[in-house]
Amino acid sequence: MIKSALAKLTLYYLAIIMAISLSFSLVIYQVSANELNRNYSRPPVFVSFSNLLDAYSGFARDRLTEAQNRLKLNLLLFNFTVLVTGGAASYLLARRTLRPIGEAFAAQSQFTADASHELRTPLTAMQTEIEVALRNKQLSTKDARALLASNLEEVSKLKSLANALLQLAQNGDQLPSLQKTPVQDVIDTAIERLQTQAGKKKIHINHEPTPLLAVADKDMLTEALTILLDNAVKYSPAKSSIAVGAKADSHNVIIAVTDQGQGIAPEDMPHIFDRFYRSDQSRNKDGNEGFGLGLSIAERIMRLHSGRVQVLSKPGSGSTFSLVVPVANS
Ligand code: ADP
Repeated sequence: MIKSALAKLTLYYLAIIMAISLSFSLVIYQVSANELNRNYSRPPVFVSFSNLLDAYSGFARDRLTEAQNRLKLNLLLFNFTVLVTGGAASYLLARRTLRPIGEAFAAQSQFTADASHELRTPLTAMQTEIEVALRNKQLSTKDARALLASNLEEVSKLKSLANALLQLAQNGDQLPSLQKTPVQDVIDTAIERLQTQAGKKKIHINHEPTPLLAVADKDMLTEALTILLDNAVKYSPAKSSIAVGAKADSHNVIIAVTDQGQGIAPEDMPHIFDRFYRSDQSRNKDGNEGFGLGLSIAERIMRLHSGRVQVLSKPGSGSTFSLVVPVANS
């Protein structure tokens, strides 16, 4: 599709260049031909008074035709040069114009392929379990209940994937409603959302009260912090602790989540913000549900706030993820 668009755009650009060049050539030809005509049709004074007038007319006609032919040839050569160089320039310009569109198109296709792959995994698991159960003629109520429980688990995975995909799509065009936001409220809500999950692993979440105010959309900032806290809980061992704290410099508030978890290997570090990226270590760990979308959602939210997500990590001893968001003067 991009290739045919490239050919079309090259032709459009070339058509515009040639239309301009041919119009100018036509005007130049008209003006120059008139000028030549005028010059050759007016004999020099000494000729007008002599019997050389007839001879001069023949000579002038020949010179005029020759000059007109030379002019035509030069203009033809000029347009041919414009056609060749214009063709090359149009191709390069069309390629340059289409490059960002091509990249966006490739990213979109990759995203669709990754999303389909992630959707297929739980669906295949459900399909296999149901097929096996249907083949079993003596399926007991207990087996059926176990099957339903397992299917329910897959359905909730599908639901959270659908939610994450929806969030990614919405964040694309949803503008944050920026207001002075108490950072403490954001931290409290995010911790509250993760309390049950942390409780299951006996993880303690510590936090210092903070009076800081950020320029942020409260719901979106809370969503981003929830993602960081969710990861901290997921990738931390049982009975460890997580610290949430906020500080400010002259421009930004920095909300940091520090865990004592598995950390991130240096080779994974450049990819953790990519959609659907999960380190092998995270994939292989039982119970660490995820689709590799959390950090890309958090990063997108922070970009909409003119902020960013920062990470510092030491494999084996833990990670600190921080949200950097513009500070509000109190
Ligand atoms: P998910 O957690 O669903 O896999 P994310 O986009 O939130 O997706 O994270 C991408 C990857 O970054 C994770 O799979 C994991 O490998 C790594 N990661 C994120 N947060 C942490 C953390 N606190 N500790 C260790 N690894 C992390």
